[in-house]
This record gives sequence, C-alpha cells and structure tokens, in this order.
Amino acid sequence: MGLKTFIESWPVYRQLTGDDPLGRGSAAYSATTRNLVPRTATADRVVKSVCPYCAVGCGQNVYVQDGRVTQIEGDPDSPVSRGRLCPKGAATKQLVTSSGREHRVLYRRPHGTDWEPLDLDTAMEMIAERVLRSRRQGWQDEDEGKKVNRTLGFASLGGATLDNEENYLIKKLFTSMGAVQIENQARI
Ligand code: SF4
Repeated sequence: MGLKTFIESWPVYRQLTGDDPLGRGSAAYSATTRNLVPRTATADRVVKSVCPYCAVGCGQNVYVQDGRVTQIEGDPDSPVSRGRLCPKGAATKQLVTSSGREHRVLYRRPHGTDWEPLDLDTAMEMIAERVLRSRRQGWQDEDEGKKVNRTLGFASLGGATLDNEENYLIKKLFTSMGAVQIENQARI
C-alpha cells in the first residue's frame, strides 16, 4: 500500500476531508463494515406475525432464509405498534432458535424433584385421563334446582400467545366438555 493510499484509508483523514465531518457515517467505515449486509437483506421471504409475549400484540415481520428464521423485526404496517417492538419482542427470534429451547415433553410427578422426559402419546393419554376424571368428579347436573350440566372440576386459562382462531376452538372444546371457567389473556 502506497503512502497516499495508506493516509486516505485512515478514518480521521476521511473525516477531515470527506462529507462526514462528524465521523459517524462513511468516514468511520472499515473494509469489514463496508461489506456488512443486514440479515434481512438475504431473506427468501417475510412472514407477518404477532409478538407472542404479551397482550399488546405488536406486529412482527419474520425473515426466513432456507426455511429458518433469521431475524424478527417490528412490522411498520401494524396499526398496534407501527414498526416498534419492546426489548422482549425484539428478542423473540431466540424463542425459535435458542439452544435452550425444549423440544421434549417433560413431566415432574407429584413429590418428584426432577423433570423426566415423556413421549407425546403417553403425555396425551395422561392428560385425557385426568380431564375425564376431573370432569366426572366435578360434574353438576343441577344447582339449586336448576339444570346446569356443568363441571367445576377444571377450567381453561390461556395466555397472550393465543389468537382468535385458537381461542374460538378452545372455548368450543371446553364448553363441550362442560367447563364454565374459560379465560385467556389475549386481547388481539
Ligand atoms: S413487543 Fe413487547 S409490548 Fe409488544 S407484544 Fe411483544 S412483549 Fe408486548
């Protein structure tokens, strides 16, 4: 590299002689930063979604490349959040990609001190058996002479991640089983 080229590559020289006198733009670029490309630029597609963390329901753009989530940003089209995400929402990519994400069913039996893995079929059988038993034990035909046909043996409490369609199905399912206490945190 010649002396002139060397001096011109110096950030302070570019700051003093170029169009970036505050040194907060092009003058501060190194060869590496000049070649950086945002993860969003190489995505194959962008999927519209809703932040699953809380009931505010901020809109998200989920960037996908080769079938994998590469970045999640606020959705400027959302009338709720207009492109913004709070720190929790901005970190939701880790919900999908974190190495700490659990993919197995884990069960801690009564008085147990450790989690033990279960296969999904076994877990579903255990849940079904408990639902049937609770329904039977908590069933009421009548209350003060009025026909009620309900169970107070279980309730449904959903989170903010549920959408309209999921809540519709959950309400149908639990009502058909006789539950009367059915609530969720979703407000979208
Ligand atoms: S981005 Fe923050 S405020 Fe918005 S829904 Fe997610 S957790 Fe709630």
